[in-house]
Amino acid sequence: METSMPLAENLKNKQQRRVKILATLGPASDSPEMIEKLFLAGANAFRINMSHGEQADKAALVTHIRALERKYAMPTTILVDLQGPKLRIGKFAGGKVMLETGAAFTLDQLEDDGNASRVRLPHQEIFDALEPQTRLLLDDGKLVLRVQSVTSDKIETIVEVGGPLSDRKGLNVPDVVIPVAALTAKDRSDLAFAVEQGVDWIAMSFVQRPEDVAEGRKLIGGKAALLAKIEKPAAIQRLDEILELADAVMVARGDLGVELPPEQVPPLQKQIVSAARRLGRPVVVATQMLESMITSPSPTRAEVSDVATAIYDGADAIMLSAETAAGAWPEEAVSIMDRIAKQVESDPDYYSRVHFTKINADETTADALALSSAQIVKTVDTNAIVCFTSSGSTARRISRERPEVPILVLTPHIDTARRLGLLWGSLSVRTRDIGSFEEMVAKGKRMAMRHHYGQAGGRLIMLAGVPFGTPGSTNVLHVVRLTGDELKGF
Ligand code: PGA
Ligand code: MN
Repeated sequence: METSMPLAENLKNKQQRRVKILATLGPASDSPEMIEKLFLAGANAFRINMSHGEQADKAALVTHIRALERKYAMPTTILVDLQGPKLRIGKFAGGKVMLETGAAFTLDQLEDDGNASRVRLPHQEIFDALEPQTRLLLDDGKLVLRVQSVTSDKIETIVEVGGPLSDRKGLNVPDVVIPVAALTAKDRSDLAFAVEQGVDWIAMSFVQRPEDVAEGRKLIGGKAALLAKIEKPAAIQRLDEILELADAVMVARGDLGVELPPEQVPPLQKQIVSAARRLGRPVVVATQMLESMITSPSPTRAEVSDVATAIYDGADAIMLSAETAAGAWPEEAVSIMDRIAKQVESDPDYYSRVHFTKINADETTADALALSSAQIVKTVDTNAIVCFTSSGSTARRISRERPEVPILVLTPHIDTARRLGLLWGSLSVRTRDIGSFEEMVAKGKRMAMRHHYGQAGGRLIMLAGVPFGTPGSTNVLHVVRLTGDELKGF
């Protein structure tokens, strides 16, 4: 993907931004034209949500994104988000009912349409897992039921918070680890589809245990990276184990704020972002970031502040959901996020705030060099850290340090370049492998210049592994001084 095409100013800006923007595609953004607009406005990665729509339509999105990638010669990231074991009630005669607070309400396994006193719950596992006094939340927590008694085919409850309830609404059971399979039959089919489409990331929803992630990994078989969505209290309990097994995580604030009181979400966001950084896993902060922009061309001040907070917290990526998938202002939503990020990242206090998480280097050569490179940047004037990597693991270790200059990642593997699209501070370029030290220096300089990281008198820090082309061998840190000469011709 080497190119000499001069990049438009907005693409240059997009490459300089540290935090990544992940935009969800949907009815408001499924045309090639709109996807291109989102890309140019600053989207680094696209989310395809399997909770809605058909596989065939999703395949078209993949085709459009890959065409865009070729057109601009910029590796672009595709994340397929699996629906996961989302529990839903059955249907009602007439489509909806009104549940009165204090009334009795039963969930059972009868096929008949429901009414104001009962409805079908087509998930046998729940009947076996519940105990009296468990809370059941309906329709994103708007209604609350308290379990009175349970048998293998009947859950008797009292309505604690009533309201209108309609067909197929979601059910959350926050207080117990429910023995549901991490991946439903639909998830398995969607996972196979995603792998076949060659997407870069697969996200698992409602992860409860590390075993869930292990199962997903096995099915994906290394053909894509795995992101675990943290949206269950049970997952918080075992966060570090889940992080060890996953390639990235998401603070999925939508369901998290249903399963837990919403006021617990902000401290959890900070906790999850910190834990992910300590372990060197990219972390995405998601949901309702610019919610009002679904219908309005400008965000609320509180939303702007929320996006800024996620960036100051040190998130790798920030996500747009319905704002880009179904909203009236998808392109504007990406632009606003981009503008907020620029502002935060040019705050002189930005790095000191982002560095609030204390991290310790692992006892590896790669980590020692990653740490050193971030240190050198603080000591001498440096333009960029240039990282030659095969699997991307060195790039992740450097990014974990949140160095004060951009990380230019050079890799011969397009898959690696694409997967790194969620990684803070990095710009990945696919380029031919290097075979010698001289080639490393020459290519590093050339590529830095081409991507606007060159400046006379500045330096580049290069990290690579000798023997060249051997994964996991990072052992060289070389500081190169740029004279004016290399800049000629660019
Ligand atoms: P969803 O996940 O949009 O797929 O529900 C994100 C969240 O719950 O926040
Ligand atoms: Mn969710």
